[in-house]
Amino acid sequence: MSTSAERQLGDRIARELYRDPDYLDDPILGDYVQGIWLRLMATARQRGELSPELQERFAWEVVIGRDRSVNAFALPGGYMGVHLGLIAMVSNEDELASVLAHELSHVTQRHIVRIISRQGQQAPWLIGAMILGALAAASNPGAAGAMIVGGQAAAVQGQLNFSRDMEREADRVGYGVMTQAGFDARGFVGMFEKLQQANRFNDTSAFPYLRSHPLTTERIADMQSRQQLQPRAAAPIALTMTHAMLAARARMLANPEVDNLRAALLQAQGQDTAALPPARRAGLYYAAVQAALGLREFDQAQQWQERLQKLAQDDAQAQVQAQLLGAELALARGDPARASDLLHSLASGAAGPSRALLFLRARAWTQAGQSREAAEQLQVWLASRPRDALGWQLLSTAYATQGQTLRAVRAEAEVHVARLDYAAARDRLRAAQELLRTGGTVDHIEASIIDTRSRQVELLLREQALER
Ligand SMILES: [Zn+2]
Repeated sequence: MSTSAERQLGDRIARELYRDPDYLDDPILGDYVQGIWLRLMATARQRGELSPELQERFAWEVVIGRDRSVNAFALPGGYMGVHLGLIAMVSNEDELASVLAHELSHVTQRHIVRIISRQGQQAPWLIGAMILGALAAASNPGAAGAMIVGGQAAAVQGQLNFSRDMEREADRVGYGVMTQAGFDARGFVGMFEKLQQANRFNDTSAFPYLRSHPLTTERIADMQSRQQLQPRAAAPIALTMTHAMLAARARMLANPEVDNLRAALLQAQGQDTAALPPARRAGLYYAAVQAALGLREFDQAQQWQERLQKLAQDDAQAQVQAQLLGAELALARGDPARASDLLHSLASGAAGPSRALLFLRARAWTQAGQSREAAEQLQVWLASRPRDALGWQLLSTAYATQGQTLRAVRAEAEVHVARLDYAAARDRLRAAQELLRTGGTVDHIEASIIDTRSRQVELLLREQALER
C-alpha cells in the first residue's frame, strides 16, 4: 500500500470520527496534546525515523474523543486518537508523551501499513469500517450492539492488533524518541506501572488501551531492563499546576453530568484542601470553575477563577491557563470586555498566538462587535491552516455578525471541507450561489472564489466516489 493510499484510508476514518458526537475540538487541550505530539515528531525526524515523504503526505493530527476510558490509537495516514480519559488519568505530561511516542512509533515504523497489507485484497472501505467497528467496540463494550457482535469484534480486533514484536519495537523506539525529545524517562516507567496495575485488576473496560496493547511478559522484561538504567529510588515526577489543571479539564469534559459538577464543587469546598500541595489545589479550583460554569452559577465560577489566578500567580504557564479559563467564563456570561482584558496580557510566542488564545480572542472581538478584527486575525491563521474546521466556524460567525451573509455561508462550506464532508460543503456552496443570484449586492471577488471552490469540491466528490 502506498503512503497516499494509506492517507486516503486515514481520511476516510477521520471523516467518520469528525461526525461522531463524541468528537471534541477543545483548543486548550488540543494545544497541550498537539504540543507534545509536535515535539515528538521533530525528534523522530532528527533521528531519521520519520522520513520527509511521510511527514509531507500524512495528516499528523491528534483527534480527541470525549470518552472517559483510557485509550490512544494510531490510525492510518498519521491520524492519532486520544480519549479524554487518558489525559485525565496521567500524572504528568511525560506519561502522556510516553503513550504518544509509542503510538507515533507504530506509524513511523510502518506497523499500520503492515497490518493493513495482512488483510489481503479487502477493499479500503471495508478495512476502514473494520477499524471504526473495533474502535466503537473498544469504547463501548457494554452496548447492546457490541454485545451481539462481541465475538466478531474480538476477532476483528485480533486481526487489527499489532504483533508482539511490533509492540516491543514501538516501546523501544518510543522510549528513545520521548527521552531524546527532553521528556522525563520516569514518565515512561510511571505509565507502564499504571497499565500494569490496571492489568492486575483486569480493568480492560476502563482501559481499552490494554486490549489493543497487551502487556506481554517480554514487554515487562524490556521495561524492567530500561528501569535499571535509571538511578535507584528516583523520586516521582512532581505534579505541575499546569498538568493538574488540564487533567481536571479533561475529567470535567468527559463527565459533564450535573451530579459530577456538584461533586466537583463540594470537593473544592472541602475543609482539608488548604493542606494540599498547590498543584493539587489548582486542579480542584479549575474543576470548580468548570463545574460552576456548567451549572451556570457564574458568580461562584468567578470566585473560584479568582482564587485559581491568585494561586497560580508565580507560575507563568499555570497563569496562562487560569486566564484562558477566566476568558471562557467571561464569554459564557456575556462579558467580552473582561475576556479581552484577560487575554490582552497573554503574550504570543514567536510563531504568533496559540490556537486557544487566538480563538478566544476572536470570540471576544466578535461578541464585542469588533468582528472585523476577528475576521482579519482568523484569515491570517487559516491561510496557513486551511484544514482547521473550528477556525472556519469562528470566521463564519464573525462574518455573519458583520452582516456578510455570503462570506459566512462560504466559510461554513469550508468547515465541511475541513471535516472532509464534501457533500455538505457542496450544499453550502450551492446556497452561496443561490444568494449571489437573488441578492441585491454584487461581490465579484467573492463570486469568483465561490465558483472556483465549487469546481474543486465537485472534483473531490468525484474522487471520493471512485475510492469505493
Ligand atoms: Zn502499541
